[in-house]
Amino acid sequence: MEKLEGEKHVKYILSVEKRKDDFESLVMDHLRINGAYWGLTTLDLLHKLDCVDQEEAISWVMQCYHEDCGGFGGNVGHDPHLLYTLSAVQILALFDKLDVLDVEMVSKYVSGLQNEDGSFSGDMWGEIDTRFSYCAICCLSILHCMDKINVEKAVNYIVSCKNLDGGFGCTPGGESHSGQIFCCIGALAITGSLHHVDKDLLGWWLCERQCIDGGLNGRPEKFADVCYSWWVLSSLIIIDRAHWIDKSKLINFILNCQDKEKGGISDRPDNAVDVFHTYFGVAGLSLLEYPGLKPIDPAYALPVDVVNRLFFRK
Ligand SMILES: [Zn+2]
Repeated sequence: MEKLEGEKHVKYILSVEKRKDDFESLVMDHLRINGAYWGLTTLDLLHKLDCVDQEEAISWVMQCYHEDCGGFGGNVGHDPHLLYTLSAVQILALFDKLDVLDVEMVSKYVSGLQNEDGSFSGDMWGEIDTRFSYCAICCLSILHCMDKINVEKAVNYIVSCKNLDGGFGCTPGGESHSGQIFCCIGALAITGSLHHVDKDLLGWWLCERQCIDGGLNGRPEKFADVCYSWWVLSSLIIIDRAHWIDKSKLINFILNCQDKEKGGISDRPDNAVDVFHTYFGVAGLSLLEYPGLKPIDPAYALPVDVVNRLFFRK
């Protein structure tokens, strides 16, 4: 069996942060704050968050903040969006630095994106998607501001996106997809609403995502991809059906997607690595209780010790 090349992944992530103008950085430019969250969380799971200059990271995150509205952009000077606001809040939670936030303003930004039917728009332009419901609910929960939204309506909207196969789509009637299922199940878990889920039916759909090579796919007939190790497995853990897949085959699939020389993890064996798949590979291994990794919380997508600090310290 292969082993996790933890030190090489740390080096890879630290090197990506320093490269500002190669291909991957350019592609990632508008997602920089998501990339920072993926990279920093990976480092923390590997017990190496102290390798980064915390003050520099936080001051950069705060440069992406829009004081006028309370949202965060994906990079300095970019427009605010819920996707980036959640990443910013998660990064600050990792560093235990939520006190730099104007919580009132940020929660006002997030709650202001809730629509009459309980759904959430991603930003002022109004695109609606259950991904944004998750972002809003996760963000407000971390900030202890869940009372700023209508939780019942938010839950009802997510439930209205449930399909006959037990999965969830991005809007009512939308096709079931593992990424979307994670968002809906995560949001229902955080709001204590898992009784709306048919766990056996959904568990069946999710465990059918395991392919012959051991990896998990996002939908029927698709190739396995490391990122679904997170989306599918976290959902299975939340609904208590993770024992329905072959865990050792999945561990092997993820380990086979590592670049054993330069570090980093790719979507499939022998493809080019990126920060996104490196994070989801390591996070997947953490869910699989791979030795030496910090455990990660399947709903908040943050290390368990960070989540405990958020909710049990006060
Ligand atoms: Zn992928």
